[in-house]
Amino acid sequence: MTAHAPLPWRRITIILNRPRGAAFAAPVSLPAAPARFADILPAVRAIADAFQSEAHQAMAGLDQPVTCSCGCDACCRHLVMLGETEGLALLRTLRTLPEDHQSRVRARFQAGLERLEAAELTPDLYATFTREVHNQRRLGEMQTAYWELQIPCPFLEDGSCGIYAERPLICRQYAMTSPPAACRTPFSAGTTMVKVLPPYDLAGAAAAFDGQQAHASRALPLLFCLLRESHLNRRVFPVLEPEPMLARFLEFAAEHYARADQPPYDKERP
Ligand code: SF4
Ligand code: SF4
Repeated sequence: MTAHAPLPWRRITIILNRPRGAAFAAPVSLPAAPARFADILPAVRAIADAFQSEAHQAMAGLDQPVTCSCGCDACCRHLVMLGETEGLALLRTLRTLPEDHQSRVRARFQAGLERLEAAELTPDLYATFTREVHNQRRLGEMQTAYWELQIPCPFLEDGSCGIYAERPLICRQYAMTSPPAACRTPFSAGTTMVKVLPPYDLAGAAAAFDGQQAHASRALPLLFCLLRESHLNRRVFPVLEPEPMLARFLEFAAEHYARADQPPYDKERP
């Protein structure tokens, strides 16, 4: 992989005007020189975190507080899908961990892959994310089968995320207002889970955006990131002006939110 010189940074405030309510403002750091989409991920994460913080406040105000808390980790056993840019970022994060931490994570990747193999799920999962990523029924089947294996995310350390500041966008996108116990039986009849969604699908959009334009979603299971490392490293991303790139991305991400299966917290709730 080519090493890039560190980029100079600058702080700006992103303002998003909304059809109702106050405009959303989030301070972010952006590279001060042309960059790749991966280089503006810290800004996208900062926006995701600001949405989360706003969601927590909004739901508390509605007397339906978010029930997610540190050490509550059932959600870290789901089939986590992420885009290629995020996959590369995750591998970079892994390489920066202290050696003993890195070894534990690598061992968990290996153990998780062995569990998939033993359950004969690897070929189906591979086919789903390469050829059927838009097939919601198939994705649903894979989500259920993966959940039944109860494979902890390789980054889970004693019930907490070991890379919290660097965790993928999808892990910043959901919050629950239902009791945490519901998250332990997500596919059982009678379980009701109430999600709080932000008004932008940042994770979904990041899986289908190369910095210049939208493309077909290229998502992969988090557990496959190490396996796909050489493939991911071959991807070429355009080098572009960061601010217009972020603006294009947010416009694209806004289109995804209409697909949410629950009203976002800044829309009328039933
Ligand atoms: S309530 Fe559910 S989604 Fe929230 S942290 Fe706990 S297990 Fe995860
Ligand atoms: S990256 Fe962190 S938050 Fe996301 S699934 Fe893994 S342990 Fe959980």
